[in-house]
Amino acid sequence: MNRKDEFMSIASHELKTPITSVKASLQLIDKMVGKHPQLESVAPFISKASKQVNKLTNIINDLLDVTKIQAGKLQLNESFFNLYQLIVDSVEQCQLIDNRHKILIKGNNELKIYADRDRIEQVFCNLINNAIKYSPKAEEVHVGFEILDDQITVSVTDFGIGIPAEKVANIFDRFFRVEHTSKNFSGLGLGLYISSEIIKQHNGEIGVISETDKGSTFWFTVKLIVNNIVTT
Ligand code: ADP
Repeated sequence: MNRKDEFMSIASHELKTPITSVKASLQLIDKMVGKHPQLESVAPFISKASKQVNKLTNIINDLLDVTKIQAGKLQLNESFFNLYQLIVDSVEQCQLIDNRHKILIKGNNELKIYADRDRIEQVFCNLINNAIKYSPKAEEVHVGFEILDDQITVSVTDFGIGIPAEKVANIFDRFFRVEHTSKNFSGLGLGLYISSEIIKQHNGEIGVISETDKGSTFWFTVKLIVNNIVTT
């Protein structure tokens, strides 16, 4: 590990403890306020603080994930689950936070896979959150599935700003951001890097087809479980 990576590892671990404590305190305050109607006017501030704490937690978790990846320590905790159900649940969660876009899911409801549920959810949420973030004027995001033999491809399509052709090759690199988007949209350029590392660890593939000002389709593949046989 070089000095920069080492610093990032130590800093993100150090940030994790206080933020966990702030989060716990906010939950406690929220409970107390709930019991006293005269404190009702405080509730929106608690909600605002909680949202920001969640954002910070996500940033710290991304930094910690990068540290794990750099150290070759991103471990998978695999189990059997229905990918379709995971996606429906994740979309529901995303819509609770931001419902400016309608997310349409087209697909089959029996998609058994053997993978790390939390990590696949992380990849999918990343793609959905990006699709929403980088298509501020669009109304819809589409989620699709395609099965070929024992491979399932999950795709997330947006109708947003797109990615210039010459930038596509670097889009999954660590800290990479397209310059003109980085001025208008906040971010660290880590989500796609982490997602691609997670999919690689699952022996899958990840990619994007995009056109400037038209939109992007990000996709990834995972192995389907056919007749309960896990192939590697
Ligand atoms: P972040 O969004 O934090 O910058 P990501 O790793 O998720 O980091 O994405 C890297 C870069 O790829 C973004 O900064 C943006 O320029 C581009 N990008 C990602 N998703 C999309 C998308 N759906 N549409 C257009 N550009 C995208």
